Amino acid sequence: MRVAITGTPGTGKTTATEHVETDLDVLHLNDLIRDEGLAEGEDPERGSLIADIEAVTERLEDRDDVLIESHLAHHLDADRVIVLRCDPRQLRERLLERGEGGAKAAENAEAEALDVVLSEAVSEHGVDNVYEIETTDRTPEDVAEEIEAVIAGDREPSAGEVDFLDFL
Ligand code: ADP
Ligand code: MG
Repeated sequence: MRVAITGTPGTGKTTATEHVETDLDVLHLNDLIRDEGLAEGEDPERGSLIADIEAVTERLEDRDDVLIESHLAHHLDADRVIVLRCDPRQLRERLLERGEGGAKAAENAEAEALDVVLSEAVSEHGVDNVYEIETTDRTPEDVAEEIEAVIAGDREPSAGEVDFLDFL
């Protein structure tokens, strides 16, 4: 069983995943990409690595029973794809608090309002395999419990239940 946790940067993937109790191996994909150089280059504007998804896919080919956490996780094979969501205003605050620049915070807030990651997850995996989890005004512990419910098979798939379009 492979479970992916994705979502716009700032939705709280890394933080929530740290609170998840599971028998699956937890994989923080961004660390793996950095540590093993699974990148095609560097984005000069953002100063961030551009992941080589093909290389990552190959690297993880034989890995089963994993919980893969990254804003790129939905580009990999997975049985269930969890998409964390957050109100763009709160997302922007979280990113600024984490120390990101205003441009990056604004760009991600807009992407979140436009459902970019959710749409990609649904088109790559189908609505029956996507589990949207709202994190706005919720603690990481609370979000982690809902992630555990998805892993356990106690939650129905869901997509498009939040609406942040009023942000635009
Ligand atoms: P991601 O891994 O999705 O980019 P992080 O886990 O790094 O997001 O969280 C982004 C920022 O928001 C961090 O500073 C973190 O402490 C904070 N944060 C994460 N989850 C929550 C939450 N549920 N409520 C409030 N703040 C949160
Ligand atoms: Mg993270």
